[in-house]
Amino acid sequence: MDKTERALKFSTLRNDFPMLKKTMHGRPLIYFDSAATAQKPQCVIDTIKDYYQNHCATVHRAVYELSSLCTTRFQQSRETARKFINAKSCSEIIFTRGTTESINLVASSFGKAFMNPGDEIILSEIEHHANIIPWQMLSEEREVILRVIPVNDAGELDLATYSKLLSEKTKIVAIAHVSNALGTIHPIKEIIAMAHSAGAKVLVDGAQGAPHMAIDVQDLDADFYAFSAHKTFGPTGVGILYGKEELLENMPPYQGGGDMIKTVAFEKTIYNDLPLKFEAGTPMIAEVLGLGTALEYLLKIGMPEITLWEHSLLNYATEKLIAIEGLKIIGTAKEKGAIISFVIDGVHPLDLGTLLDLQGVAMRTGTHCGQTVMRRFGVPGTTRASFALYNNQEEIDLFVKILQNIIKKLR
Ligand code: PMP
Repeated sequence: MDKTERALKFSTLRNDFPMLKKTMHGRPLIYFDSAATAQKPQCVIDTIKDYYQNHCATVHRAVYELSSLCTTRFQQSRETARKFINAKSCSEIIFTRGTTESINLVASSFGKAFMNPGDEIILSEIEHHANIIPWQMLSEEREVILRVIPVNDAGELDLATYSKLLSEKTKIVAIAHVSNALGTIHPIKEIIAMAHSAGAKVLVDGAQGAPHMAIDVQDLDADFYAFSAHKTFGPTGVGILYGKEELLENMPPYQGGGDMIKTVAFEKTIYNDLPLKFEAGTPMIAEVLGLGTALEYLLKIGMPEITLWEHSLLNYATEKLIAIEGLKIIGTAKEKGAIISFVIDGVHPLDLGTLLDLQGVAMRTGTHCGQTVMRRFGVPGTTRASFALYNNQEEIDLFVKILQNIIKKLR
């Protein structure tokens, strides 16, 4: 597919997203905040509505047709998620509430199973709070030590220091696939291989990876991979934790309740097989079905095509933005996802965010749940443009024009 064909294809796909036809403050909505949450295609909205309107029943528990149909669809979503990240088996796909819960599950359960006082966890300096706090809580609980990989001025991991931090004490390395604050794509395959040769496991926080590129957990050899449906064009309240079967088998349940058991007695309870062992209680059924539809939608478009399109948007917007006097991009890694964080001399990000909103531009300003990142780069916060498959160059042109007018007014 050449560039023109690709632009045409993605401009057609944009029509699948009803929210993008909205106006804000009387202006066409320019939605540049997909790193926070993505808009939903009509097919996802329809799936959720259809469940509540035509198929509403619970899963796993009943013999009546409505429930068994629902169970089948629920399992189909699990199979779609398996295919989406090329996991070996559906036993390795656990439905959680999102990336945050997936990471908390691993910190808690892996921590209990495999970590002892004095053991070490390696994180990076530019993780989302969701990939810091659960490990910090674990470190307090089990007296394990956190080690932090620094980044260079471009926002790239210092792999030489990482190599030195790895030792026989390292039990797990928890690292984002793509930084939500800077856009850096970390070399996770290399990071995983290095961890494995030191005998450590790796959790990849894929919240910003899965929506934008093809993921193959077997090729990466990831031990855990976590992502959220709502950033992957699906609903809120659901996400995925991938874990290698042999690891999940040896980890204790995260929560107790219905569905995660085989037999219950006061003397001894036998837990269910994977993946249900980690799915206590009635699951988020509509959301899981919506997630299945979202992932099918992405697979049909083709993740490599999405990556190419978004990369062209990243390059186009970067060129336009660096031409603006006094604007500095924070995060200039060689490998970047479609995220641009920037600061402008004499312009506070919060003022900018408010004025952009009045012109119909939805963009996040602040620390992006990355206070350690902002501290590393010595800024109170940034303004962040994050693109998805439905954005285009015309929106970037309009945004840059609006931005230039605002800067003129504020200076
Ligand atoms: N990690 C990263 C890199 C993220 O961008 C986010 C969401 N901003 C999270 C984790 C947490 O995801 P959620 O809030 O959907 O659980």
